[in-house]
Amino acid sequence: MSNGAAVSQRYFRLSALNALVGLLLCGAGAAFVGGTASDLQANRLGAAAQEILNVQAEALNGALDKYRMLPVVLGHRPDAASLYAPGADAAATHRIALQAAALSGALDVVFLRPSGAVLARASGAAKDVIAPSSPLLRAALQGRLGRDERVLDDGRRAYVFTSAMWDNKTIIGVVAVYVDLVTIEDNWSLINNPILASDAAGLVVISNRAAWRMAPRPDFRDTVQGGAANPLQDAPTRYLARSRYLAPLNWTLTVLLQAAPIRWAAVMWGGLAAALALALTLAVQLLINRHFAGVRRSRAQRANALRLERIVRDRTRELLDSNASLAHEVGERKAAVDLLRKTQTELIQTGKMAALGQMSTALSHEINQPLSAVKTYAQNALTYLQRGRQQEAVDNITRISELTDRMAAISRHLRNFARKPNPTFGSTAIGKVIEDALEVVSARLREQAVSVTTDLGEPGLQVRGGPVRLQQVVVNLVLNALDAMAGQPAPSITISVARAGASVEVSVRDTGPGIVVSDLGQIFDPFFTTKEVGQGLGLGLSISYNIVKDFGGTLSAHNWPGGGACFVVRLDLGEHEQVAAQ
Ligand code: ADP
Repeated sequence: MSNGAAVSQRYFRLSALNALVGLLLCGAGAAFVGGTASDLQANRLGAAAQEILNVQAEALNGALDKYRMLPVVLGHRPDAASLYAPGADAAATHRIALQAAALSGALDVVFLRPSGAVLARASGAAKDVIAPSSPLLRAALQGRLGRDERVLDDGRRAYVFTSAMWDNKTIIGVVAVYVDLVTIEDNWSLINNPILASDAAGLVVISNRAAWRMAPRPDFRDTVQGGAANPLQDAPTRYLARSRYLAPLNWTLTVLLQAAPIRWAAVMWGGLAAALALALTLAVQLLINRHFAGVRRSRAQRANALRLERIVRDRTRELLDSNASLAHEVGERKAAVDLLRKTQTELIQTGKMAALGQMSTALSHEINQPLSAVKTYAQNALTYLQRGRQQEAVDNITRISELTDRMAAISRHLRNFARKPNPTFGSTAIGKVIEDALEVVSARLREQAVSVTTDLGEPGLQVRGGPVRLQQVVVNLVLNALDAMAGQPAPSITISVARAGASVEVSVRDTGPGIVVSDLGQIFDPFFTTKEVGQGLGLGLSISYNIVKDFGGTLSAHNWPGGGACFVVRLDLGEHEQVAAQ
């Protein structure tokens, strides 16, 4: 495929060729068509001139022929000898001449002696004298018809025919008939085109243009003056001349037609041909332009399509790549989620096992101790009964009864713990919740010899929340405090309840090492623990936090300025407390 520069080069080459051909066509067309048109026009004008020429030649010949036979007829008059006889009647001769002139319309009829002397003439107007050496006289005396044009004394032009006067076979004189050329010119005045007759010497004998009469014939190859019908409008003009030789007269008849139409035809048709060639060149240029515009457009479209194809290909590749990496990522995520689920399941399982272990430890501790005491009291009561010491026996049995009550209480607490919490909750006496919680953990408290100080505030103070889950929260907080103070001398826990506006604040404070400051932000997160494996699950605070949140309260932690950690449970006042507070 050719590139853009090659296309442009081809375009310019074709355009230049078209312009060159157009130019040649313009020139050649103008020359050929103009030439042909001028030739045609010249031929047409020539034919018209020829026609005029033929008609006028015939008319001229006809007009003169009328007079041609008159001198011959007069020359053969039977009374010719008597006319030329010495002492003849001059008046009679004059009458004959006058009669002949009047009948024929000739300008003059003259009888001459062989010497040229006038015997008689019809008209006295033209006193023309024919010299003895004149060809007119000589031709007549030789028995031929003499003919010539003559300019008379008064300036009139005449055509003269002469013939011999015969007496038997002898020439006794000459008769001359004068024809007025002005009458012929009068006929020509009706013809628009200039017309002239010139004699052998090139003198214009007659013409319908006054300027040319009796003057040398102009050279019609050049522009000439005097051709205009109206002399006031005369200007140098170029003519197309057509001539014809009139044999008997020895004249040349010439008709002139204005040559301007020939030039105009050449200019007009040549110009038209040039314009046509120009239009053709322009049309071809338009076609070339359109063709190359199409070529360029299709090239641009092809380039565009290729570019789009490339973009689509690149995008598709990118998409495929990103799809592959996404699929890989999804796979990884799926694996991670699976691993997380597995780990969670394992953790829950571990948690369950740990809780079960803790519970069994607590249970066996709580139950075994009273059980061994019951066994001891029962043996003692038996011994006292055998010895008849009834009162001591009763005391021991009373103890046994108290111990079984205690075991029943523990079992009741455990049952409470295990029971599913009631989703609807109302108001709970916070003091009772705290007392019950302390009872649940009383064994651990005693074991670690922890001194517990409680300030339960207003008696019967109600908070919003369920008793079982609130107790679970307090137990969690106390157990954490116990864990933190393990192995510490004089451990103590202070639980206080205080009313703060429409809320109640329960704080559980210990004298342990406090919470590591950097851990403060994460202790409520599930599974966050600083305890050794098997000791803690990191769920206690997270569960407690969510329970308090469920009740519309908050759980927060901070370190006590004097040492130890302090957890604050903030709950809404219970319903009838709120009414009382109003
Ligand atoms: P666990 O007791 O199983 O570790 P918890 O959610 O109950 O889980 O406690 C999370 C962590 O909070 C504990 O591991 C401990 O580091 C810290 N903590 C909780 N209570 C106390 C406290 N009274 N004194 C110091 N640190 C505490």
